Amino acid sequence: MSTEIETMPHESSAAPTVRLSRRSEWASRGAISFLMQQGAENPGVLSLAAGFVDPSTLPVEETRRAFLELFADETRARQALQYGTSQGSESLRERLVPFFSALEGKAPAELGLTPADFFLTTGSQQLLSIVCEILFDPGDICLVASPTYFVFLGALEGVGARAITVPTDEHGMSPEALDEILSQLADAGELPRVKLVYAVSYYENPSGISLSTDRRPRLLDIVRKWSLAQRIFVLEDAAYRELHYDGEAYPSLWSFDAPRDTVIYTQTFSKSFSPGLRVGFGLIPEPLRQAVIDRKGNEDFGSAHLTQRIVSTALADGAYPPHLEQVKQSYRAKRDAMLAAAQDYFTEIPGARWEVPHGGLYVWMTLSAAVPTGFDSQLFSEAVKHQGVMYVPGELCFAPDQLERNHMRLSFGVLPPDQIREGMRRLAAAVKAVMG
Ligand code: PMP
Repeated sequence: MSTEIETMPHESSAAPTVRLSRRSEWASRGAISFLMQQGAENPGVLSLAAGFVDPSTLPVEETRRAFLELFADETRARQALQYGTSQGSESLRERLVPFFSALEGKAPAELGLTPADFFLTTGSQQLLSIVCEILFDPGDICLVASPTYFVFLGALEGVGARAITVPTDEHGMSPEALDEILSQLADAGELPRVKLVYAVSYYENPSGISLSTDRRPRLLDIVRKWSLAQRIFVLEDAAYRELHYDGEAYPSLWSFDAPRDTVIYTQTFSKSFSPGLRVGFGLIPEPLRQAVIDRKGNEDFGSAHLTQRIVSTALADGAYPPHLEQVKQSYRAKRDAMLAAAQDYFTEIPGARWEVPHGGLYVWMTLSAAVPTGFDSQLFSEAVKHQGVMYVPGELCFAPDQLERNHMRLSFGVLPPDQIREGMRRLAAAVKAVMG
């Protein structure tokens, strides 16, 4: 009897094992935490890594006014402080009809959208995650561009989905290559596992590339052609759509989905207004809507009602368009500062080349294939420890089937132009140091 009690787990001196779910293990990428830790441990480092928006352009005055307006009316204030619904504030969804129609360059009546078509989420990230949750069983397949948004790759891993790379050039994902890959997957009997194509359609994070206009309908045609075993959806991530600085204004992929049965569209107020408010929205094909609502019900039964009402008020009182203009002006100048510095400091580095982004927050820099850029590389340590500059290693942005190691994602979001230039000077010095 006594020996039995002694061997009971709670009597043992060792702490009991913590057994996390398999999903928790899949979700442990940790890249962001590592980057943040590097920043904290190395003060004085200029960060070209952070994808944050520019603190100096955040809408303090506009948000203060929206709060005062909302709280001037007690009934509205009480509504805003109450729970909302899983689908989100009716007031904001009503305003999204003209807001989104204007982006599409159409009258609301032409699009035939109603507030019921919009789903509000905690940033657009939540919809990316919910889509992964509702579509993928472990082993299912998502097709992605190369490179692509590394947090989405993490979300795929987190549900045990497989990311398969579609060859991508300066015009975005190649529809012909997509067709070829789907054909190969069909031959291998894997088509029933293909559930989604993920496309950051405007100024991709990290490459700054946009899918060209002529490729957009072709991509949808190919997805439809291979929707044989079941519908393959396209997740259009339009996070940077409004941060357009010059060049062509692209129509959305969504606009080519006439039957509205294929494209799941997500957008966010994080980049154009404030990420702290955590307001994103989506348009979801009818057959997925209930699953999204049910999943969201499990997660939070509705994103923060208060901040949705703030965005709604800012859209209604006219504060939004001039603010967006100001934000774009500031980022355009910072993009130009980064490109000018790239020209001045990197031109002489053999093998170095970079994309010119027409929007968004990133410049994608490629180095000679002999210069790896990862966390464990000589370059990363030279940059952070000796030169005092940090970047995001490009390898985080590739699916495991097509890993490339010689790129850097450089963000012009946070730092002012003079520090961007200094950061680029330091980075070029680090590259030259490791190239010898
Ligand atoms: N998609 C892309 C491509 C992004 O870069 C980001 C933010 N870095 C998001 C989605 C999510 O942003 P949020 O949740 O703030 O809307």
